[in-house]
Amino acid sequence: MNKPAHLMGGLTAGIAVLKNIESTVPQIGLTDAMVSGGVVLCGALLGSLLPDIDHRNSYIGRKLKVASFIISKTLGHRSVIHTPLVIFAFSALLYFFSKELTGQSQVLSSYFIMGLSAGMWSHLLLDMMTRRGIPLLYPITKKSFRIANFKGGGMGDTISIIGCAILIVFLLK
Ligand SMILES: [Zn+2]
Repeated sequence: MNKPAHLMGGLTAGIAVLKNIESTVPQIGLTDAMVSGGVVLCGALLGSLLPDIDHRNSYIGRKLKVASFIISKTLGHRSVIHTPLVIFAFSALLYFFSKELTGQSQVLSSYFIMGLSAGMWSHLLLDMMTRRGIPLLYPITKKSFRIANFKGGGMGDTISIIGCAILIVFLLK
């Protein structure tokens, strides 16, 4: 999947997170709700692109050149970084560190991590719709799994963008 499809996936995941934490978002004023929402969505959009850091020609790979170079050379594209295990471990690690913060920065960082994590999960789901799939059960097996057979950047991207737009409409209802 290409950048627009992943961003749409991230946006959908971010909105889904917002729907779920709505009641916990401080409703002291409109600004607070907007800041919390913005933080979740920023995290989700970043997370939707982040796993492709293992691909030097991806958008995020071009932005974070050094990290992308090292990761793509040592791990390769769609390997460990594209696994539920690593995404879960990475999110848990960030959450663990965020607990060290206090007050509002702790609340906002936990919202950001929730968004980031949801965005990364949406990335995996969308990549599973492509021919190449992802190593879903790593480290048990390195075999790639997929739920559809689309070619990256083709019809699959259009279908997922439309699918996400429909989901967003339902989420915002
Ligand atoms: Zn990917």
